[in-house]
Amino acid sequence: MDKALVIGSGPAGSACSRILAEAGWKVDLFEKRNHIAGNCFDEYDENSVLVHRYGPHYFRTDSIELVKWLSKFTHWIPGHYYVRSMVDGKFIPVPVNLSTFVSLIGKVLTEDEFKTYLEEQRITCQNPINAEEQCLDMVGKELYDLLFKGYTIKQWGIEPYELSPAVTERLPLRLNWDERYPSEKYQIMPKDGYTAMFNNILQHPNIHVELNHELNPSDISKMQNNYDLTIYSGPVDAFFGFEYGKLGYRSLRFVWKHFAETYRQPCVQINYPHKYRYTRTVEIKHVTEQMCQGTTICYEYPQDEGEPFYPILTGDNLQKYDKYKLLVNKEKAKRNPILFLGRLAEYKYFNMDQIFIKAIQTVKNILGK
Ligand SMILES: Cc1cc2nc3c(=O)[nH]c(=O)nc-3n(C[C@H](O)[C@H](O)[C@H](O)COP(=O)(O)OP(=O)(O)OC[C@H]3O[C@@H](n4cnc5c(N)ncnc54)[C@H](O)[C@@H]3O)c2cc1C
Repeated sequence: MDKALVIGSGPAGSACSRILAEAGWKVDLFEKRNHIAGNCFDEYDENSVLVHRYGPHYFRTDSIELVKWLSKFTHWIPGHYYVRSMVDGKFIPVPVNLSTFVSLIGKVLTEDEFKTYLEEQRITCQNPINAEEQCLDMVGKELYDLLFKGYTIKQWGIEPYELSPAVTERLPLRLNWDERYPSEKYQIMPKDGYTAMFNNILQHPNIHVELNHELNPSDISKMQNNYDLTIYSGPVDAFFGFEYGKLGYRSLRFVWKHFAETYRQPCVQINYPHKYRYTRTVEIKHVTEQMCQGTTICYEYPQDEGEPFYPILTGDNLQKYDKYKLLVNKEKAKRNPILFLGRLAEYKYFNMDQIFIKAIQTVKNILGK
């Protein structure tokens, strides 16, 4: 029987484990935390409110194949993903769409008028080289100052002109009235939560999960020879002993407050581009649709220290990662290879669906060979 060693139980590690197990492989999965599901982990807090412990996770995808695959492990509810930005005491819809503009100016416009406004405002740049240029090219200075600039500085701790345009390119701009936060075709949420879904993914006689067990690089090198394949979804720089230095990550401090109200804010997420030290408040109950008394709000404070959450895409970090990538490719070429998969291992911000799809495809390719 072929054997695989998997490090990490987030979307990358869990999806790989399941596909391998179904193909008859024996899988040993090691997870350093005391729970599965990686950053998608959710649980009931001390007031019995279901919360997302590592920031809100809005499942969205264009892939019906992925929805079908995950539907073996969960039922779904619709994902009501709406976000407002607090500007001058008003809740303004984001991402930028026609109703954002109407809320700001207090006057109803047509799509054509909005288009004309944007054309007048845009500071055109053919190939933006940083996030500031990208935003100015997309919406112009007025909306950039109101909605993007302050938020980006708080979120990343650096000026937008120091950040790669890839960070803000992910944000849609809509000329219509569509106020939904994501743009993908399927916007859904696991009915019983993410942890329950991951539990079902990992529920297979060929999968052995060991929690509270961090595998460091020397453990992995020693164990690797007992396995036909190793999949690593931890940080790439740590794996190589920080040979080229630490890759920069932005972290978050989560502060939780419970309120004796059914709902506290008008939608799941409020962004604060100007006021307060926190960037956003999240009331996930709007999406989980949990019927319970009271509600829990999470305040997110960005910081440098702590769990690595978001790769900081500066030129410096990307150059460093390119060097690590050469080491990764060497590992991949070995007879019983180590595959680096996931947001930490590939130093890239991926949404869950992207990682699920990549993990499933990667393993299927290996099995096909
Ligand atoms: C604040 C925040 C909000 C997000 N919101 C969304 C969203 O709304 N929608 C969306 O689609 N995506 C969202 N994401 C992205 C999503 O979390 C990732 O796409 C997904 O978690 C990536 O899966 P992964 O398996 O690569 O990594 P992770 O989920 O991080 O899993 C990696 C696992 O490996 C474990 N591990 C690491 N090193 C070791 C080791 N040496 N030994 C043992 N275990 C180890 C870690 O403990 C972790 O559990 C968000 C991310 C963050 C940070």
